[in-house]
Amino acid sequence: MRIVVLSGAGISAESGVPTFRDDKNGLWARFDPYELSSTQGWQDHPERVWAWYLWRHHLVQRVDPNDGHRTVAEWEKITGIEDVTVVTQNVDNLHERAGSSAVHHLHGSLFEFRCDNCDSAYAGELPEMLEPELEAEPPQCTCGGLIRPDIVWFGEQLPERPWQASVDAVQRADLLIVVGTSGIVYPAAGLPEMALAQGTVVVEINPEETPLSSSATLAVRQSASDALPHLLQQLPSLLKRV
Ligand code: NAD
Ligand code: ZN
Repeated sequence: MRIVVLSGAGISAESGVPTFRDDKNGLWARFDPYELSSTQGWQDHPERVWAWYLWRHHLVQRVDPNDGHRTVAEWEKITGIEDVTVVTQNVDNLHERAGSSAVHHLHGSLFEFRCDNCDSAYAGELPEMLEPELEAEPPQCTCGGLIRPDIVWFGEQLPERPWQASVDAVQRADLLIVVGTSGIVYPAAGLPEMALAQGTVVVEINPEETPLSSSATLAVRQSASDALPHLLQQLPSLLKRV
């Protein structure tokens, strides 16, 4: 059996990385996520966008993967499962730290940086940020450009290689598990549609209803860390009921 797990911010919420919707009490509550995650926002306020991502870069290193991430990594060791591919919209590294070996980041990573002018990768020092700050100066590239996180912002193209690898994995999959994503950000949200169109079983795990819920083969209304550890054992009987 070949499994693909498509994950979103919800799987990392229980590790203490807030989803955009839940991140409403903090320092950045007054900013629209669009302002912090768009080229327009970067052009208008690079020091604000840099501070937001630098804070998240450090925050993610202080938290641990949860049972959801760990279960997905453990599936790789089960006899009879040939392949477990993780396709994630998350920019954290919790799947990798839990032990998953094939992780495709559709929306980039909090651990890669590049110049906004010449695109060179940046491997320089990053300042520590122990408490969230509203503004921080982004480092400068030797070409005069500013260093930005290598993250896909609203309106930007997805990186070709992880996207193609994800499409290939979904096309080969026997089971697609969609966990912790609101399912409204395309083209990632098109992957479950692709799987359903080819007759692949699609299981959604999300405590709340999403646009995918009605068309998914099965919708499990539980959190990622509650549902994933028991999912494979329970799946045959759950599928019999749908
Ligand atoms: P989203 O914030 O739009 O949706 C999160 C979904 O997770 C919601 O449907 C919610 O009901 C569900 N959820 C909440 N807690 C859950 C839990 N414990 N278990 C299972 N599901 C749970 O997130 P998205 O769909 O990933 O899209 C938003 C964008 O924000 C993405 O592009 C992503 O790159 C970015 N983002 C990433 C992170 C991260 O890397 N951890 C965090 C926030 C936002
Ligand atoms: Zn440069």
